Amino acid sequence: MAAPARRPGAERAPRYRAAVTRFDLRALRLPSGGQAREQVEIALEPLLLGGQAYEQRPNPVPAELTVTRASSGTVFELVLEVTVDGPCVRCLAAAELPLALRLREYQAARAETEELASEYLADDRLDLSRWAGDAVALALPDKILCRPGCAGLCPRCGRDLNLDPHEHAASDVDPRWAALEALREPD
Ligand SMILES: [Zn+2]
Ligand SMILES: [Zn+2]
Repeated sequence: MAAPARRPGAERAPRYRAAVTRFDLRALRLPSGGQAREQVEIALEPLLLGGQAYEQRPNPVPAELTVTRASSGTVFELVLEVTVDGPCVRCLAAAELPLALRLREYQAARAETEELASEYLADDRLDLSRWAGDAVALALPDKILCRPGCAGLCPRCGRDLNLDPHEHAASDVDPRWAALEALREPD
């Protein structure tokens, strides 16, 4: 299992500078019709979801970048495996999500419209950190859970319903409220 989940609301000093791994395409000197396959290491920033930080490991993550150049444009493919760690949204226990990503971007040689241009490419440099980070965020499920169908915490007493499944009788009143009830003047 991963490191224990931090308490909700606990703030933490940022450990990372903005993670930026850029790949300089000019270094490839790739002719039209050429293909290059490169092993790269990509620094990833923690993802912030619902006020919680989710770390990615390994970080930097090894990845394989393939660049294929045609006269009409360039195709970029990125293959990586990363695990996202963070608190379960229902019970706050450590959750881990392994992801296998195969990504693809296209940049037309003359990109007249935004659809033909990769938003991760600027000045012949491919921003691998932002590309991989966006893809990880998109690949995550709506709710990050520690296990399928996590039962969460009891809304009445806060105990973990996975470890301690229980119900409260409807007449079970919180003792603090019971004390207030006792003080109340009869009508
Ligand atoms: Zn859970
Ligand atoms: Zn309870």
